[in-house]
Amino acid sequence: MKKRNVMFGTLFLVMMGMMGFTSCDSGFNGEEDVAPVSAADEAVTTDTSTATCISGLPMEELSDSEVIGITYMREEEKLARDVYVYLYDKWGIRTFDNISKAEQAHMNAVLLLIDRYELTDPVGDNDYGVFTNDDLQELYDQLTADGSVSEIEALKVGALIEEVDINDLDEELESYIDNQDITKVYNNLRAGSEAHLRAFVWNLKVRGVEYSPVILTQEEYEEIINKD
Ligand code: MN
Ligand code: MN
Repeated sequence: MKKRNVMFGTLFLVMMGMMGFTSCDSGFNGEEDVAPVSAADEAVTTDTSTATCISGLPMEELSDSEVIGITYMREEEKLARDVYVYLYDKWGIRTFDNISKAEQAHMNAVLLLIDRYELTDPVGDNDYGVFTNDDLQELYDQLTADGSVSEIEALKVGALIEEVDINDLDEELESYIDNQDITKVYNNLRAGSEAHLRAFVWNLKVRGVEYSPVILTQEEYEEIINKD
Protein backbone atom coordinates (compact mmCIF):
# COMPACT_ATOMS: atom_id res chain seq x y z
CA MET A 1 0.00 0.00 0.00
CA LYS A 2 2.70 2.41 1.05
CA LYS A 3 4.88 1.37 -1.88
CA ARG A 4 2.02 1.91 -4.28
CA ASN A 5 1.51 5.45 -2.98
CA VAL A 6 5.17 6.23 -3.43
CA MET A 7 5.09 4.87 -6.96
CA PHE A 8 2.01 6.86 -7.79
CA GLY A 9 3.62 9.95 -6.30
CA THR A 10 6.73 9.44 -8.38
CA LEU A 11 4.67 9.01 -11.53
CA PHE A 12 2.79 12.16 -10.64
CA LEU A 13 6.01 14.11 -10.20
CA VAL A 14 7.40 12.82 -13.49
CA MET A 15 4.23 13.95 -15.22
CA MET A 16 4.42 17.32 -13.52
CA GLY A 17 8.02 17.59 -14.67
CA MET A 18 6.97 16.87 -18.24
CA MET A 19 4.34 19.55 -17.93
CA GLY A 20 6.97 22.05 -16.92
CA PHE A 21 6.35 22.11 -13.18
CA THR A 22 9.31 21.93 -10.86
CA SER A 23 9.00 18.91 -8.62
CA CYS A 24 8.98 19.43 -4.88
CA ASP A 25 7.46 22.89 -5.05
CA SER A 26 4.39 23.37 -2.97
CA GLY A 27 1.19 23.24 -4.97
CA PHE A 28 -2.06 24.39 -3.47
CA ASN A 29 -1.80 27.27 -1.08
CA GLY A 30 -5.47 28.03 -0.60
CA GLU A 31 -5.07 31.54 -1.89
CA GLU A 32 -8.06 31.94 -4.19
CA ASP A 33 -11.07 33.49 -2.67
CA VAL A 34 -13.21 32.80 -5.71
CA ALA A 35 -13.94 29.40 -7.28
CA PRO A 36 -12.07 27.18 -4.83
CA VAL A 37 -11.66 24.21 -7.14
CA SER A 38 -11.64 21.00 -5.10
CA ALA A 39 -9.52 22.52 -2.36
CA ALA A 40 -9.45 19.34 -0.31
CA ASP A 41 -8.22 17.26 -3.25
CA GLU A 42 -5.50 19.76 -3.96
CA ALA A 43 -4.37 19.72 -0.33
CA VAL A 44 -4.03 15.94 -0.49
CA THR A 45 -1.97 16.28 -3.66
CA THR A 46 0.42 18.55 -1.80
CA ASP A 47 0.79 15.91 0.93
CA THR A 48 1.67 13.21 -1.59
CA SER A 49 4.29 15.35 -3.27
CA THR A 50 5.85 16.40 0.03
CA ALA A 51 6.10 12.75 1.10
CA THR A 52 7.70 11.83 -2.22
CA CYS A 53 10.04 14.77 -1.99
CA ILE A 54 11.50 14.08 1.40
CA SER A 55 11.61 10.32 0.92
CA GLY A 56 14.32 10.97 -1.68
CA LEU A 57 16.39 13.05 0.73
CA PRO A 58 18.86 11.62 3.25
CA MET A 59 18.08 11.38 6.95
CA GLU A 60 20.69 13.42 8.76
CA GLU A 61 21.54 13.80 12.40
CA LEU A 62 19.05 15.94 14.30
CA SER A 63 20.26 18.68 16.62
CA ASP A 64 18.35 19.41 19.84
CA SER A 65 17.28 22.72 18.32
CA GLU A 66 15.88 20.96 15.27
CA VAL A 67 13.86 18.63 17.49
CA ILE A 68 12.43 21.57 19.43
CA GLY A 69 11.84 23.51 16.20
CA ILE A 70 9.97 20.70 14.43
CA THR A 71 7.86 19.97 17.50
CA TYR A 72 6.93 23.63 17.85
CA MET A 73 6.26 24.03 14.12
CA ARG A 74 3.83 21.10 14.13
CA GLU A 75 1.69 22.95 16.67
CA GLU A 76 2.25 26.34 15.06
CA GLU A 77 0.64 24.98 11.88
CA LYS A 78 -2.15 23.57 14.05
CA LEU A 79 -2.61 27.02 15.56
CA ALA A 80 -3.17 28.45 12.08
CA ARG A 81 -5.55 25.64 11.10
CA ASP A 82 -7.58 25.82 14.31
CA VAL A 83 -7.90 29.61 14.35
CA TYR A 84 -9.01 29.61 10.69
CA VAL A 85 -11.56 26.85 11.29
CA TYR A 86 -12.88 28.87 14.23
CA LEU A 87 -13.02 32.10 12.24
CA TYR A 88 -14.67 30.44 9.23
CA ASP A 89 -17.34 29.12 11.54
CA LYS A 90 -17.72 32.60 13.04
CA TRP A 91 -17.77 34.71 9.86
CA GLY A 92 -18.23 32.38 6.90
CA ILE A 93 -15.43 34.02 4.87
CA ARG A 94 -14.38 31.38 2.36
CA THR A 95 -10.68 32.28 2.52
CA PHE A 96 -10.56 30.93 6.07
CA ASP A 97 -12.01 27.63 4.90
CA ASN A 98 -9.58 27.34 1.97
CA ILE A 99 -6.52 28.25 3.98
CA SER A 100 -7.42 26.00 6.91
CA LYS A 101 -7.18 23.09 4.46
CA ALA A 102 -3.73 24.23 3.38
CA GLU A 103 -2.73 24.42 7.07
CA GLN A 104 -3.90 20.83 7.50
CA ALA A 105 -1.55 19.90 4.65
CA HIS A 106 1.23 21.83 6.43
CA MET A 107 0.52 19.95 9.66
CA ASN A 108 0.71 16.70 7.72
CA ALA A 109 4.03 17.73 6.17
CA VAL A 110 5.57 18.41 9.58
CA LEU A 111 4.13 15.12 10.85
CA LEU A 112 6.08 13.37 8.08
CA LEU A 113 9.27 14.75 9.64
CA ILE A 114 8.14 13.79 13.15
CA ASP A 115 7.41 10.24 12.01
CA ARG A 116 10.55 10.02 9.95
CA TYR A 117 12.79 10.92 12.89
CA GLU A 118 10.59 9.06 15.40
CA LEU A 119 9.90 12.15 17.50
CA THR A 120 6.95 12.58 19.85
CA ASP A 121 4.00 14.26 18.15
CA PRO A 122 2.72 17.10 20.38
CA VAL A 123 -0.67 17.02 18.63
CA GLY A 124 -1.69 13.38 19.02
CA ASP A 125 -5.46 13.19 19.48
CA ASN A 126 -5.78 16.78 20.67
CA ASP A 127 -8.99 18.44 19.59
CA TYR A 128 -9.27 21.78 17.76
CA GLY A 129 -8.17 24.61 20.05
CA VAL A 130 -6.13 22.37 22.37
CA PHE A 131 -2.34 22.75 22.50
CA THR A 132 0.51 21.09 24.36
CA ASN A 133 2.65 24.23 24.21
CA ASP A 134 1.38 26.81 26.72
CA ASP A 135 2.45 29.80 24.62
CA LEU A 136 0.52 28.51 21.62
CA GLN A 137 -2.50 27.77 23.80
CA GLU A 138 -2.44 31.33 25.06
CA LEU A 139 -2.02 32.64 21.52
CA TYR A 140 -4.97 30.57 20.29
CA ASP A 141 -7.19 31.91 23.06
CA GLN A 142 -6.11 35.50 22.36
CA LEU A 143 -6.39 35.31 18.55
CA THR A 144 -9.81 33.68 18.53
CA ALA A 145 -11.02 36.37 20.94
CA ASP A 146 -9.51 39.15 18.78
CA GLY A 147 -10.92 37.63 15.61
CA SER A 148 -14.41 37.43 17.09
CA VAL A 149 -14.73 41.23 17.24
CA SER A 150 -15.43 41.78 13.52
CA GLU A 151 -14.68 40.45 10.04
CA ILE A 152 -11.90 43.01 9.67
CA GLU A 153 -10.29 41.99 12.95
CA ALA A 154 -10.60 38.33 11.93
CA LEU A 155 -8.76 38.99 8.65
CA LYS A 156 -6.08 40.97 10.52
CA VAL A 157 -5.62 37.97 12.82
CA GLY A 158 -5.10 35.85 9.70
CA ALA A 159 -2.46 38.22 8.34
CA LEU A 160 -0.73 38.35 11.73
CA ILE A 161 -0.58 34.55 12.01
CA GLU A 162 1.06 34.39 8.57
CA GLU A 163 3.56 37.10 9.51
CA VAL A 164 4.50 35.21 12.68
CA ASP A 165 4.77 31.96 10.73
CA ILE A 166 7.07 33.47 8.08
CA ASN A 167 9.19 35.11 10.76
CA ASP A 168 9.53 31.90 12.80
CA LEU A 169 10.36 29.82 9.71
CA ASP A 170 13.00 32.36 8.65
CA GLU A 171 14.57 32.46 12.10
CA GLU A 172 14.83 28.68 12.25
CA LEU A 173 16.07 28.35 8.67
CA GLU A 174 18.71 31.01 9.23
CA SER A 175 19.96 29.74 12.57
CA TYR A 176 19.90 25.99 13.07
CA ILE A 177 17.93 24.07 10.44
CA ASP A 178 20.41 22.34 8.13
CA ASN A 179 18.90 18.94 7.31
CA GLN A 180 17.78 18.84 3.69
CA ASP A 181 14.40 17.27 4.39
CA ILE A 182 13.49 19.78 7.10
CA THR A 183 14.67 22.66 4.92
CA LYS A 184 12.51 21.39 2.07
CA VAL A 185 9.39 21.15 4.21
CA TYR A 186 10.02 24.54 5.83
CA ASN A 187 10.47 26.23 2.46
CA ASN A 188 7.18 24.76 1.29
CA LEU A 189 5.46 26.00 4.45
CA ARG A 190 6.99 29.41 3.90
CA ALA A 191 5.73 29.62 0.30
CA GLY A 192 2.27 28.72 1.58
CA SER A 193 2.45 31.41 4.26
CA GLU A 194 3.41 34.05 1.73
CA ALA A 195 0.38 33.14 -0.40
CA HIS A 196 -1.85 33.19 2.68
CA LEU A 197 -0.56 36.59 3.75
CA ARG A 198 -1.36 37.95 0.27
CA ALA A 199 -4.84 36.44 0.46
CA PHE A 200 -5.65 38.03 3.82
CA VAL A 201 -4.22 41.39 2.75
CA TRP A 202 -6.30 41.23 -0.43
CA ASN A 203 -9.42 40.39 1.56
CA LEU A 204 -8.79 43.40 3.79
CA LYS A 205 -8.17 45.61 0.78
CA VAL A 206 -11.51 44.77 -0.86
CA ARG A 207 -13.10 45.75 2.46
CA GLY A 208 -11.32 49.11 2.34
CA VAL A 209 -8.56 48.33 4.86
CA GLU A 210 -4.86 48.76 4.14
CA TYR A 211 -2.90 46.23 6.21
CA SER A 212 0.37 47.26 7.84
CA PRO A 213 2.89 44.62 8.89
CA VAL A 214 3.19 43.99 12.62
CA ILE A 215 6.10 41.52 12.73
CA LEU A 216 7.88 41.74 9.38
CA THR A 217 9.78 44.83 8.29
CA GLN A 218 8.06 47.02 5.72
CA GLU A 219 10.68 45.90 3.20
CA GLU A 220 10.16 42.17 3.85
CA TYR A 221 6.41 42.68 3.75
CA GLU A 222 6.40 44.57 0.46
CA GLU A 223 8.63 42.00 -1.20
CA ILE A 224 6.08 39.29 -0.34
CA ILE A 225 3.01 41.32 -1.26
CA ASN A 226 4.42 42.40 -4.61
CA LYS A 227 5.38 38.88 -5.69
CA ASP A 228 2.09 38.22 -7.43
MN1 MN B 1 1.04 27.04 7.26
MN1 MN C 1 -0.69 29.91 6.50
